[in-house]
Amino acid sequence: MLLDGFGRRVDYLRLSVTDRCDLRCSYCMPQGFKGYEEPGHWLSFDEIERLLAVFARLGLRRVRLTGGEPLLRKNLPDLARRLAALPGIDDLSLSTNGTQLARFAAPLRQAGVTRLNVSLDSLERERFRSICRRDALPQVIDGLEVARSEGFRSIKINMVAMAGTTDAEIDAMVAYCMERGFVLRLIETMPMGETGRSAGFLDLRPVRERLRRRFGLIDGVVPGGGPARYLVAPDGSFQIGFITPISQHFCETCNRVRLSVDGALHLCLGREDRVEFRPLLRGGCSDDELEQALLEGLRRKPARHEFGEQTGRIVRFMSMTGG
Ligand code: SAM
Ligand code: SF4
Repeated sequence: MLLDGFGRRVDYLRLSVTDRCDLRCSYCMPQGFKGYEEPGHWLSFDEIERLLAVFARLGLRRVRLTGGEPLLRKNLPDLARRLAALPGIDDLSLSTNGTQLARFAAPLRQAGVTRLNVSLDSLERERFRSICRRDALPQVIDGLEVARSEGFRSIKINMVAMAGTTDAEIDAMVAYCMERGFVLRLIETMPMGETGRSAGFLDLRPVRERLRRRFGLIDGVVPGGGPARYLVAPDGSFQIGFITPISQHFCETCNRVRLSVDGALHLCLGREDRVEFRPLLRGGCSDDELEQALLEGLRRKPARHEFGEQTGRIVRFMSMTGG
């Protein structure tokens, strides 16, 4: 079992396969951003597979493909197939902005991806364009319809709630998800990079109480629901999660680490602590040495983020770490 220095079991990895993206969500990536990691620094599929096999031998059980936009990485279904086949890995999921989902839903499902998280901040085309800086809502909606027909075990919609997100927009998203059997999750903006700080924070606690009354929801527990606190319909037909890293942090139950495209293992989203695996992988190290580096790194995993206290501290933005 992989335990950190505070006795938390870490069995979940968010694996960034690219830091590139076809959108420029205002809370995530600066508009004219060009400072991408150079391709020579990207971990290859062979390197990723080797490293994750070592992690899985030590107790890693769940992997989420993310980015940047993971569907921009060439041959992603091949990587998914290789990771799904690793002994010990029993859950492979994907976070995507959905712009290319119509094309990739079927190959990814066949490759062994069982759960999808799709980011969708608004159902109004113009508002979507102003948040994500591309007129791509129709593609995302199409992608979601294709994904629905592919039999994924769950499809979750991630909606970042920021200053300016209205009650009407949230209610429309609730209705959309209820009709399609999607789980909705509302996320507070995190102050990652200038982008995250400038988006404007919306405290989700009052939103949660309003939705509880408006839709007759009750507190619920969703297996594998991660850090979200859930409200559910009494008949179980709908679930909405609230991810509140700022107003109510959940670090004491943190079970995850993040591997960025350049092979750095980030031990906490809100801290700089990391383990650099690329030099080890390319320097001819043994699997034992990779194991030791992981175990030693986990002992250094911080107790909690300090987004509340140190709002200017994290200069990298979410797409660089693998959100
Ligand atoms: N491109 C994919 C997507 O959008 O789902 C995967 C990567 S994205 C960085 C992962 C998640 O991070 C998305 O749900 C996005 O909304 C969220 N995110 C990005 N920046 C954020 C911020 N500053 N605060 C909170 N969530 C953020
Ligand atoms: Fe791209 Fe996802 Fe960041 Fe939006 S949130 S800019 S889709 S990486």
